[in-house]
Amino acid sequence: MGIFDCAIIGGGPAGLNAALLLGRANRLVALVDTNNDHLAFELQESISRNGNAAIEFMQAAKEKLNQYPTIHSIVSQSVRAIKQSNNKLFKIYTEDGENFLAEKILLADGTKIQTAIPDIKQYYNKSIFTSPYGYGWELKDKKLIYINETGDVARTAKIIFNVSNDLVVATNGYEIKENEKRELENKGINVITDKIKEMKGHNGVLRSITFQDGLEIEREAGFITPSIYTTNTIGQGFSCDLDERGLIVVDHFGRTSEKNVYAAGDAAQPAPTEIVLSEATGIQVAITINSDISIEKF
Ligand SMILES: Cc1cc2nc3c(=O)[nH]c(=O)nc-3n(C[C@H](O)[C@H](O)[C@H](O)COP(=O)(O)OP(=O)(O)OC[C@H]3O[C@@H](n4cnc5c(N)ncnc54)[C@H](O)[C@@H]3O)c2cc1C
Repeated sequence: MGIFDCAIIGGGPAGLNAALLLGRANRLVALVDTNNDHLAFELQESISRNGNAAIEFMQAAKEKLNQYPTIHSIVSQSVRAIKQSNNKLFKIYTEDGENFLAEKILLADGTKIQTAIPDIKQYYNKSIFTSPYGYGWELKDKKLIYINETGDVARTAKIIFNVSNDLVVATNGYEIKENEKRELENKGINVITDKIKEMKGHNGVLRSITFQDGLEIEREAGFITPSIYTTNTIGQGFSCDLDERGLIVVDHFGRTSEKNVYAAGDAAQPAPTEIVLSEATGIQVAITINSDISIEKF
């Protein structure tokens, strides 16, 4: 392998769109993705794809990239480390022992939710979701819980309240502003600040939630806004600036605090996390990268 103009880490909606734009701009691109088929759901928010399986759209997108000789896809591999050499080139190492060089890096490696709530993983994407826009319609009028660990609770609680009035808000031990608590309680929303001890249910279908003080409430489903996200470890490898929630800080064009390192998609984007928004930032940052290279190399 020669030297790539750009190595894209992560082949989700952001990385795929960035690869397409850069490949079509005649830039040599390496796209590395663990290919873990993580998008096992139906797309809801986009009118052009509502109800379509996300995985099918992703597979079709990957096939489209194959027609461009400028795009080198390294699938089913994780990037293990990225090191910058004295000549400023980045050396990218995969878990399988491959390595290659690139002049620029695009981090499009998504995020993971970090929360200490016991058992919650069993309910992710079955009963507990992150976006009320993605699943609010499906959870209309159900007994809902909204878990928010950030202190900025009321804004999203109001959006969920419009989907179901049968709403309990839980902060899992985190503080909530007194005025926000009163505002929610005035609408009949029970606000529980105690830590969550247990979530009960079957096959990912939530039935009840128990708190540290022993209180158990019946709930069918809900949403979570966690206190922290982590990008999939690569961002930290460079000492790129991260915000207080662990997301990569970028300027309006997708440039990080590290020279020649860019970021797009969920890894760099505060909520709401939507495929079309990730796609858009992937395109935006690819335009920035191509324009930066064009100016530098002209
Ligand atoms: C259950 C669920 C339902 C959702 N429903 C919707 C919906 O209906 N509509 C909608 O618009 N959005 C929905 N979303 C949100 C949407 O999936 C995300 O906003 C979007 O996928 C983010 O795209 P991305 O490219 O930034 O990151 P991701 O899609 O997370 O892609 C990142 C990629 O990077 C790869 N990766 C990570 N680390 C490495 C590494 N070290 N080396 C190589 N590859 C790596 C990952 O395997 C992954 O393939 C949903 C999300 C979830 C979890």
